[in-house]
Amino acid sequence: MYSQPLEKPKANILVIDDTPENLYLLASMLTEQGYKVRSVTKGTAGLRGAQAAPPDLILLDINMPEMNGYEVCQCLKNHALTSDIPVIFISAMNDVLDKVKAFTVGGVDYITKPFQVEEVLARVENHLTIRSLQKQLQEQNTKLQQEIIERQQAEEKFAKAFRSSPSPIAITTLNEGYFIEVNSSFLKISGYSLEEIIGHSVADLKLGITPEQNANIWQKLLETGSLQNQEIELRTKSGEFRIVLLSVELIDLEAKQCVLNIFHDITERKRLENEFISLVSHELRTPLTSLIGSLDLLGTGQLGTLTVKGQQILNIATSNIERLNRLVNDILDLERMKSGKIAMQPLPCNIGDLLIQAAEAMQAMAERSQINLVVEPATAQILADPDRILQTLTNLIGNAIKFSQAGGTVWLRVKLQTNYLQIEVQDQGRGIPTHKLQSIFERFGQVDASDSRNKGGTGLGLAICRNIVEQHHGKIWAESTLGQGSSFYIILPLLNGA
Ligand code: ADP
Repeated sequence: MYSQPLEKPKANILVIDDTPENLYLLASMLTEQGYKVRSVTKGTAGLRGAQAAPPDLILLDINMPEMNGYEVCQCLKNHALTSDIPVIFISAMNDVLDKVKAFTVGGVDYITKPFQVEEVLARVENHLTIRSLQKQLQEQNTKLQQEIIERQQAEEKFAKAFRSSPSPIAITTLNEGYFIEVNSSFLKISGYSLEEIIGHSVADLKLGITPEQNANIWQKLLETGSLQNQEIELRTKSGEFRIVLLSVELIDLEAKQCVLNIFHDITERKRLENEFISLVSHELRTPLTSLIGSLDLLGTGQLGTLTVKGQQILNIATSNIERLNRLVNDILDLERMKSGKIAMQPLPCNIGDLLIQAAEAMQAMAERSQINLVVEPATAQILADPDRILQTLTNLIGNAIKFSQAGGTVWLRVKLQTNYLQIEVQDQGRGIPTHKLQSIFERFGQVDASDSRNKGGTGLGLAICRNIVEQHHGKIWAESTLGQGSSFYIILPLLNGA
């Protein structure tokens, strides 16, 4: 009947008018413009049609028998499915158009007959545009609300995980180190209340993290953005120390660079570990002493002469037992030092004398290994436990000899600084790879797993040395060039800083 547009219909329009001529006129006018038009002559039919397939816009005649336009509009507005459809009223010239009523019942506009094509199209288009913008806004609103809900849910999930995590967690600002958020596990381990922590810094609370540890953490954070499992001693409010593994990560919070600190309390694990080591070592001591005695007896020949092969086997057994004995003694030594059971006995002593004593003690070993031991003369007074400093020096000289080739030289020298002195034990041995320079000072930290077996060591010597030096408020470290040699340095404070 009407000319069919070629493109996809622009919008669906429902025309409700009891005058067939009006219907025809409107429908053809709109169809021509590309709209899809449905026409009905009764209000009730219009309502049914709108419910069945909601149009984008309704043109509604006011004066109709049975149900007038106002009533139809009211019904449309009362149903969720049709309430948002814009309704434009149509009124005849001689109708008394109650404009106020038209708007009150929910109409958006009105057109008076006779129709002017441009006016009808302009109003229809306007309201379709407004409706489409409204729809877009509603959709965007719904989407935004959905996003807000999802974000809130995600935040809630993380907040819950943060709050109820069994691991102590704290968020601090990167630059000032102020606490801005901590969870209840952190309050529990530290012994502080939330008010005592928030807004205060790690330094304010004296949490036991040394300036060196802090500097180390800072450097790693700036280099790589994170740091894993750094062992530190955390000082709690009551003054007790907890051993924790600290992992840190750089995060951005409200445009501020912050640090996420996650702690893992290993105090109990460490205690059990130490208890176990000390128990096993003590239990080993008695049978070891008896074994050494028995082997010595065998060696004296009092129980009969051994064959050459027998003597060789006895020598191997003796050297292994001696190594085991050293290991047990070193473990116990370290264990007692760490738990503070061995206190240093500081006396004023001359470092030059200690170097000579240490060299003398190691002279026999050096000769056996054809190593030249050179002590450069020095004299300076330090306040130290001489036995423990000797133990440290002999360990370093022993290592220097062990890891050198026959014909090499080991030097012992001292450099004086304003308030401290620096001892150097230098060798021309195989050297230590850079990545091992720190770990060799850990318990059983070795360059090669076979070092202790091949060289008769225990892997505990440097850990003991570090402990002794630290108890003297000093520092120990190594520098090395692979294949060329190593230098071990010790810094000790001078007596009276003189
Ligand atoms: P060990 O009883 O094995 O010597 P230490 O704790 O004294 O135990 O030393 C740990 C490890 O460090 C050694 O096993 C060795 O791998 C390395 N090391 C120590 N001193 C030297 C050195 N002067 N030259 C090369 N490697 C060394």
